[in-house]
Amino acid sequence: MSGNLNYLKLKLGDFLRKTDAVSEYHELINSQWRTNVELEDVQREKLQLLINHVVKNVPYYQDYFNERHIDIEEFSLLDLKELPLINKEILNSKKDDFTAENHESYGSSWKSTGGSSGKPFRFLLSKNAHSIMWGNIWRGWNAAGYKLGDKVAVLAGDSLLGGFDFKRYVYYQTMNWIPMSSFKMDETSMEKYLHQLKDENVQFMYAYASAAYELASYALKHDIEGVKLQSVITTSEVLLPRYRTTIEKAFNCKVYDQYGANDGGVTCFECNQHEGLHIGSERCIVEIIDDQGNPVPDGEEGRIILTDLDNYAMPFIRYEVGDIGAITHEECKCGRGLPRLLYIKGRERDFIMDKEGSKIHGAIFTQLFKNEENIEQFQVKQSEIGKIDVYVRLFMQEKTPDFARYAEKLKEQYKFESVEFIISENDFVKTSGGKHKIVINEIES
Ligand SMILES: [Zn+2]
Repeated sequence: MSGNLNYLKLKLGDFLRKTDAVSEYHELINSQWRTNVELEDVQREKLQLLINHVVKNVPYYQDYFNERHIDIEEFSLLDLKELPLINKEILNSKKDDFTAENHESYGSSWKSTGGSSGKPFRFLLSKNAHSIMWGNIWRGWNAAGYKLGDKVAVLAGDSLLGGFDFKRYVYYQTMNWIPMSSFKMDETSMEKYLHQLKDENVQFMYAYASAAYELASYALKHDIEGVKLQSVITTSEVLLPRYRTTIEKAFNCKVYDQYGANDGGVTCFECNQHEGLHIGSERCIVEIIDDQGNPVPDGEEGRIILTDLDNYAMPFIRYEVGDIGAITHEECKCGRGLPRLLYIKGRERDFIMDKEGSKIHGAIFTQLFKNEENIEQFQVKQSEIGKIDVYVRLFMQEKTPDFARYAEKLKEQYKFESVEFIISENDFVKTSGGKHKIVINEIES
């Protein structure tokens, strides 16, 4: 099928989705080459418009600005830092207060994203913001070589593949997607996926990081050769270094990571330099702050705070998404002016607690197993403070890692009462959306 026809089909899909992502995409492709300073000017202008909108139409901000008599005439990026932080809990408890009274005029529709404790978090998204979201995702794919209309295998769960009914099927067809469910990662399904990748001339895969890794591991373990992709674009989960190397080896390609928080309006993507993820800053202002709420300098780690400049239906202003990361404004060798997230650490719920109740990030296990070659996958489960069970799948059953030493090391560094290692083939719990989690924290908070 010709490239042009695929492009037209995709435009139809865009229409069915009620977005105008194609035109947003073309704009974003151009604006990524603007300088850092020019992009900040765009943010400043859009912020001014957003603040004018919320003061008029969003009850929470009407009250907030009225009570404080804040002059919004020249609202700056610095003024933004004075506004209160919000998060899912706050939004959930006062959803009406954060909804624009005129949200329908922005073509708003309800979307949901994974919430803490597995309950989905629902929010309103304007048509414009939804279009820019897809424009941004495609821009990231384009950095990995994709052109609009190219065939893409999408290996994911609920957040990307919302079902397999007829309507959805038509949509996947128009998008030129081959849907692959990350819920089904048994032998039969994985064989099928690998055959599809080989036989249907697929160049690109867009996938949950852990699912792409699982499929790649399977291919390597069973000597399934001949899958040659141009790029694998990973998303939705933290891409661990061993995920990247395994996927690249199995599919003879490069991995391009993406990070997105659709509720906060941000999409970030890796360019061919692979030195951090370019932030879609035309739509989103990203701040990094410390525990006290103060901004941290470039390169330093902190809480990620997002301001969505385009979602007028339910504005997310200084929204704490729950992830931790570091940012840089240093120019990237690729020439794009978009700042970069240097790295992202998982969500706040990816924490375990030691016996004194201190939070410890699940990333310590990635660090702990850094040089361990026999661990294929792991998951840490905690149902009691101070005690953890580490489920581990091994490459070679006959070679058990020195678990006693790992347990000792953990107990030396952190205050754990008990650390158990359990060898397991498939006891890993996925989220309701089909993602792998490093930490399953069952402690009620
Ligand atoms: Zn770059």
